[in-house]
Amino acid sequence: MSADDNAFAVVADGWFDGERRHEEPATFLVRDGRIEDVAAGDRSADLASRGLSLQRGGFLMPGLVDAHVHLFLDGGSTDAKQRAEHLKQPLEQLIDAARASARQSRDCGVTLVRDAGDRHGINNRIRGEARDPRAGFPRVRSSGLGVKRAKRYGAFMATDVTDADSIRDSVTALAQDNDEIKLILTGIIDFAAGAVTDEPQFTLEETRLIVDTAQAAGRSTLAHCSGEKGLAIAARAGVGSVEHGFFMNRETLAVMRDRQVAWTPTFCPVHFQWAHPEAVGWSPQTVGNLRRILDDHARHLQLAHEMGVTLLLGTDAGSMGVRHGHAVFEEMDRFVEAGLSLETALRAATSAARRHFGLASPVLDKGAEFDALLLEASPFDDMANLQRSLAVWVAHPGRDWNCAQHQFEHQ
Ligand SMILES: [Zn+2]
Repeated sequence: MSADDNAFAVVADGWFDGERRHEEPATFLVRDGRIEDVAAGDRSADLASRGLSLQRGGFLMPGLVDAHVHLFLDGGSTDAKQRAEHLKQPLEQLIDAARASARQSRDCGVTLVRDAGDRHGINNRIRGEARDPRAGFPRVRSSGLGVKRAKRYGAFMATDVTDADSIRDSVTALAQDNDEIKLILTGIIDFAAGAVTDEPQFTLEETRLIVDTAQAAGRSTLAHCSGEKGLAIAARAGVGSVEHGFFMNRETLAVMRDRQVAWTPTFCPVHFQWAHPEAVGWSPQTVGNLRRILDDHARHLQLAHEMGVTLLLGTDAGSMGVRHGHAVFEEMDRFVEAGLSLETALRAATSAARRHFGLASPVLDKGAEFDALLLEASPFDDMANLQRSLAVWVAHPGRDWNCAQHQFEHQ
């Protein structure tokens, strides 16, 4: 066996490093799952003479990150009864469904997902299985089971807390096994009313307590939150990221920028209900509300970008009509429709999330772990090229996110 058994090269006509687009061809030498060298131009002749295997493509970029999924839910199902039945399945079947979601994401070029909560802790289990490259999953970052106010929304993904003591106890216990602490700060949007009609589940002080307790245990937080009142609390409490964030406003965005609170706007589930009102039985008036909510959301996404708020691309895959993997392309469409450049949308779907999660290699660079997607052609010529992948490489960190040892898979 030669010393180069764990090495290969990729030549791409153009590439995106996670931050910037490069329009010139480049050759990547990968060894033991890391980028040993990046050289300008096509160096294939030289590499072939060294006996290295070579992969060629139109465009190389970091693997996609979906910063908000629920692996145990099947987003492909759009029938309410079927969705309710799905949840009643025995645990083993739900775990199988989560495995299928993970594989489907990987097949779409998603190499890392953040699971935003499930009641059974299936996400933590899949995270464990994903460490074995043979599973064919993306890497999984998991918020396990979240916390919610007793008797309020979120039972499918969170446990109940009542007072300061139970917040401290629950968050400390959950922090042992969860990469981040999910808190359910508000309920869902009342689309018929076109507003968030319930009061936030936690006060500013309680939210701060959740954030501080998580931080003391070395964990960041992500807050399910929509509506002005809840968003003001989330931003001021300094949660790690606001999830959904419908009914955003400039004042809250300014606090988010100053406190480095990231935003995952998750257009997909609302967009699906606007595009397919028959799936839910919405009236024309409600469809109008959905359009207004989406337009308002798009305006605030653009504003957030201009103001310098960190944006993460997350789909809420598993929600009705939001299919694992495929939804990333749809969410990217929403970002671009909102007026963001494709480069900005790709950043949100690659380096921004990796940086937010504290990963060692947020961009493709010399020395970085090779977690990448090779496309037939550049998405800057046609966004649909994002869906035409030739190869997906998932970096496999060890048990610890900062672990330097990586296994590697090439398919
Ligand atoms: Zn969600």
